Amino acid sequence: MAGLTPLAEALDLILAEEFSAPDSEPCSLLDSLGRILSEDIHSSVAVPFDNNSAMDGYALRAAECDQDLTITQRIPAGTCGDYVESGTAARIFTGAPIPPGADAVVMQENCQLEGDCLRLLQPVVVGQNIRPRGQDIAEGDLVMAAGRRLRGEDLGVLASVGLGQVPVRRRLVVAILSTGDELVEPGTQASLQPGQIYNSNRYTLQGLLAGLGVEVRDFGLVPDSPEATAKVLREAAAVADCVVSSGGVSVGEEDYVKDQVEKLGQLKLWKLRIKPGKPLAYGRIGNTTFFGLPGNPAAVYVTFTMVVRPWLLSRQGAEVEAPLMLSAAADFEIPTPGSRQEYLRARVHVENGELRASLHRNQSSGVLSSVSWANALVILPPDSTVAHGGRVSIVLLDQLNR
Ligand code: AMP
Ligand code: MG
Repeated sequence: MAGLTPLAEALDLILAEEFSAPDSEPCSLLDSLGRILSEDIHSSVAVPFDNNSAMDGYALRAAECDQDLTITQRIPAGTCGDYVESGTAARIFTGAPIPPGADAVVMQENCQLEGDCLRLLQPVVVGQNIRPRGQDIAEGDLVMAAGRRLRGEDLGVLASVGLGQVPVRRRLVVAILSTGDELVEPGTQASLQPGQIYNSNRYTLQGLLAGLGVEVRDFGLVPDSPEATAKVLREAAAVADCVVSSGGVSVGEEDYVKDQVEKLGQLKLWKLRIKPGKPLAYGRIGNTTFFGLPGNPAAVYVTFTMVVRPWLLSRQGAEVEAPLMLSAAADFEIPTPGSRQEYLRARVHVENGELRASLHRNQSSGVLSSVSWANALVILPPDSTVAHGGRVSIVLLDQLNR
């Protein structure tokens, strides 16, 4: 279709934008969830720090497993034992360091105990039930590379090498604004007047941005007028690294956003060959990147996750992994090909070991509850049809909302 840019081409353009990664700043480990690591982290310690016991049991010399041993010491976690003399064993607990002299740990379940005398019920091999020093992370190892967007388990790994704070990228400032004279903020009016709708895009965007480690400046509702649009774009661009608007980028006379971006800066892209989300606009106001998302709420979700999110990750110096595409069997059919790439709101489940996808009954770009209902998007290339039971590509929403 003439004039519409395919998504892949648009992403190439958007992600090729030149930038220097935001400055680095120290951040306390507990506050670093979702932040982007700005330096490679090497470990200054071995994890675990000692050879230690993987079991509650007895530490002994493997070569002495066929003789009765006398228990001469007790080593709880957090304490260190003494040399294990020949003919003796140490009572030991999970996590306690292996005492010198011992080379194996026998689980307490595999021993017989009479007073201080220990008899082993099974053969013992050297190293058994010992977690060697550094088996998780060796001293000097690369623990985590710059660009990592920190997840809960990453915080644990960084804690395990003793870091109380980590170097992260400064948060990007993202300004959001919702255009439309019809919009009313939920909770501010007892009921809607004819012609009004509640502003939902603001909440979708705030929610999606919250997971991306950025600082959000919310410019609220913007009336449909050139003056109001220009004013808010100027103010937002002055304080933010990126402005994300919703609505007002279509072809109607009440759509002012695109024109004002062209007046204040530069429009680099308008209209993608996707459905929903066609009217997406991308450009620049001064040094600030601009994304004009469509007004329709399901289109906001698709364009944010497919376009804005990868830009935000890349611009923060984060590794950008393309979402994992899976294949599913269609529990639906699409007999008529469309000219745009479609992002259909779907639910996938496993049946007889196979992924199957069914579609929300209403794929209108205005039906936001289709996104909430879905756990996946079916991605249907332009000019293609789907037969019942045929294969379709899907991406799980978990991949896009992370
Ligand atoms: P527009 O692109 O401004 O013509 O908007 C397209 C459709 O999306 C219209 O039906 C709008 O009422 C609706 N819409 C625009 N902004 C929002 C918003 N913030 N929340 C919910 N719906 C919206
Ligand atoms: Mg509008």
